[in-house]
Amino acid sequence: MPSTVATDLARLVGSEHVRHDAHLLSDASQAMGLRGQAAAVVLPGSAEEVAAVVSWCYEREVAIVPRGGGTGYAGGAVPLDPDAVVVALDRLDRVRSLDPGLWRMEAEAGVTTQTVARRARESGLFFPPDPGAAEQSQLGGNIATNAGGPHCFKYGVTRAWVSGVEAVIAPGELVRFGGPLRKDVAGYDLTGLLCGSEGTLAIVTSAWLRLLPAPALQLPVVGAFGGVQEGCDAVVRVLASGVVPATMEYLDAGALAASASTFPGGLPDGAAFLVACEADTSEADAAELEEALGGELGMALRPAARELWRWRDGVSLAVTARRGGKLSEDVVVPLDRLAEGIAGTVEIAERNGLEGCSWGHAGDGNLHSTFLLEPGNAEQLARAETAVEELFALVRSLDGSVTGEHGLGWLKRGQLRHQWGPAAVGAHEAIKRALDPEGLFNPGKKTA
Ligand SMILES: Cc1cc2nc3c(=O)[nH]c(=O)nc-3n(C[C@H](O)[C@H](O)[C@H](O)COP(=O)(O)OP(=O)(O)OC[C@H]3O[C@@H](n4cnc5c(N)ncnc54)[C@H](O)[C@@H]3O)c2cc1C
Repeated sequence: MPSTVATDLARLVGSEHVRHDAHLLSDASQAMGLRGQAAAVVLPGSAEEVAAVVSWCYEREVAIVPRGGGTGYAGGAVPLDPDAVVVALDRLDRVRSLDPGLWRMEAEAGVTTQTVARRARESGLFFPPDPGAAEQSQLGGNIATNAGGPHCFKYGVTRAWVSGVEAVIAPGELVRFGGPLRKDVAGYDLTGLLCGSEGTLAIVTSAWLRLLPAPALQLPVVGAFGGVQEGCDAVVRVLASGVVPATMEYLDAGALAASASTFPGGLPDGAAFLVACEADTSEADAAELEEALGGELGMALRPAARELWRWRDGVSLAVTARRGGKLSEDVVVPLDRLAEGIAGTVEIAERNGLEGCSWGHAGDGNLHSTFLLEPGNAEQLARAETAVEELFALVRSLDGSVTGEHGLGWLKRGQLRHQWGPAAVGAHEAIKRALDPEGLFNPGKKTA
């Protein structure tokens, strides 16, 4: 690290908070070989210190890479410019206020997802967004990726639960959009704009969150089916039942082959597709879901919630374990095209001589389409990369999108222009120029 940079930054945040640890230069995309380089990683201790660091960078045209827990899959938090400064939010870890009676919380960007959920639960409340890796991912990262999770089918993704943000914008101004308000249409929805902006427009330092009273019940109901079409028909039956399940997850045959042996209580013979719903309202609603999810393989299953969700958390790892590696995407399609997306993933894999499977959030049309690999096998990796390009072409043809959860980041940069028209891409780029005229916030990421 150039000594003047280190000295300057140390003056702003304290020398012990200017670091260059290798683990702060990568994220979950490391499995795909992406590693970063930067002049320094700084860990500011307050929103004011974040603003001072951004001012310092903006004056010197130094790239700024915001970093949360580093669990992102798109390489968004990975610095790719050796002169960049990574701004890690770990030390902004205070819950500034919690008002259980008013169903709201204000928490700093570095508070972990798990801590937000736990603090809400301790007051009998509920923060619905539940992305995986909750013990490591941070509220700021959740906001910057507009993260979702199983329970977002009923409750909506992070944006729906953020009523305001405090953030540092160019050239180093600490601002506030929204606040502890349940409604506010006074300005453009800049809170919403920052949700999903992947660190390319601002650094979020704190957020006001809406909470709900915790649901009374957690009653999972799981249907097992012989194939994709039967399972997707069941999804439509659930919607027609009028019950709004909290979750509507699925696994296809390949994902089940990797994980069925540990399904709590076991699965019926011939199970090649699973739909996992959860009623959180009443036993009567669970019974309706049971009716919709029964099929040719028998009655719907009723595993315990804790066991089911622990098992579901392990699916991704179980799939990886089959070959040791994978390329996994997070594409999204309209609900009526779900079966085509799921079957298409397997067809693309076969065409490229690979094993492919998917699982994900059926109710949101969100597929973790996955191609299995042996680590270090360059030829397989090349075929998997071709398969991913074919997958993106498929989802575009289905009127879908290349990402429903992880964002474009670095790995999917440049994909947007294939799915939006030129004028829409122009509007996207104009927003970036307006808020970050020098292009210093997370350069190269989320580019159209
Ligand atoms: C096992 C596992 C399971 C996952 N499951 C899900 C899931 O179910 N749903 C889902 O949506 N995602 C999921 N993810 C992806 C990831 O966990 C989420 O995107 C998470 O919200 C990222 O948070 P983070 O703090 O780790 O962000 P990081 O990885 O550190 O950063 C992600 C992006 O946000 C930006 N950023 C981070 N903090 C800030 C800030 N304070 N201000 C501005 N920009 C910032 C970064 O620059 C980067 O572009 C999963 C990841 C793993 C490893």
